[in-house]
Amino acid sequence: MLDVPDFPKPGVIFKDLMPLFADGDVFREVIDGIVAYHGRDSFDAVVGIEARGFVIAAAIAYATGVGVVPVRKAGKLPRATHSASYALEYGEATLEVHQDAFTAGHRVLVVDDVLATGGTAEATLDLVERAGGTVAGFTVLMELGFLKGRERLAPRPVHALLSI
Ligand code: AMP
Repeated sequence: MLDVPDFPKPGVIFKDLMPLFADGDVFREVIDGIVAYHGRDSFDAVVGIEARGFVIAAAIAYATGVGVVPVRKAGKLPRATHSASYALEYGEATLEVHQDAFTAGHRVLVVDDVLATGGTAEATLDLVERAGGTVAGFTVLMELGFLKGRERLAPRPVHALLSI
């Protein structure tokens, strides 16, 4: 993991987890660890949050035989969507999911690389529920504890491989 100061804007220390993705042994350990933590039969679909969450979600989906569903930035999904706007550590954004993404009651594991203020995760968990899914778990590779995302998401549980 690399700290990139002042990216994407001054004052933000960007946690670049790409080196972890690029190391095959470490990446496999991370994916296996997430699956073992939740249990491979505890979810029916995996949601990855654009864009780095896609990498994690696709690997978990392949490893467990479930499908992967993208939660994307506004305007990227081609069919009818639910959308949710939220504030980021830097800036503001809107996320979307296809309205027909889940079968009712589908248990959905949500994954992303970094939890900061929790706005992205809060919007995503909301979208999953509005699209008919049930949140089975939420995992990030790294939690920036000082930004209190975990408190924002409470009482929903947050699983972080690493907390700083
Ligand atoms: P937040 O909504 O504040 O919890 O921000 C989480 C989202 O923004 C995740 O999708 C992260 O990929 C990204 N993000 C926010 N802050 C950082 C950071 N310091 N380093 C890397 N990614 C970040």
